[in-house]
Amino acid sequence: MQKTKEKSIVRKEDIVLGNLVVHVQYKKIKNLYLKIDVNTSEVKVSAPYTMSRERINEFLDNRREWIEKTRQKVIKKNKKHNQFQELDAEQEKKLREYLNFEIKNYIIKYEKIMRVKSEGFTIRKMKTRWGSCNVRTHHLNFNLALARVPRECLEYVVVHELTHLLEASHNANFWNLMEYYLPGSKRLRKKLNEYSVF
Ligand SMILES: [Zn+2]
Repeated sequence: MQKTKEKSIVRKEDIVLGNLVVHVQYKKIKNLYLKIDVNTSEVKVSAPYTMSRERINEFLDNRREWIEKTRQKVIKKNKKHNQFQELDAEQEKKLREYLNFEIKNYIIKYEKIMRVKSEGFTIRKMKTRWGSCNVRTHHLNFNLALARVPRECLEYVVVHELTHLLEASHNANFWNLMEYYLPGSKRLRKKLNEYSVF
């Protein structure tokens, strides 16, 4: 796949937009595409090879605000990511202690309110999820990255996993229960999604 993609590039050019360098690839395509690389935060454009430099400049100028905003978001996210990866053993131990304490308290609180019973939890480094719940054994897992999110979002994840003890799947009943036990859960879910899980 990569090969055919490369083949279709007619030529490449860098355009300077304010203090930004935009990498432009001219291809045999019909439309202009703009993207921000999620790893490097580079601005990349794929343009029809017949398109003039002026048209591309105009296109970029009109989207300058969006480009800046999106780039800042990517940079911020990657920064958080890196800070997390650069943790030494001592720092990680502190984060685990903090999370362990907070999660334990939330579990005690919500087990009473929700009348459920979990069977212990593990704090792990997870790549794709904030938490998980084994509905058979009632064991819970929480992502170490939760140490970086606001406490109310951590609370959301704990209640979310405990709700799975009442409803295994993410159906309407599940979301109703969540909202019942943690009013405003939708907003918290959105807030949590602003953070990366790893
Ligand atoms: Zn879930």
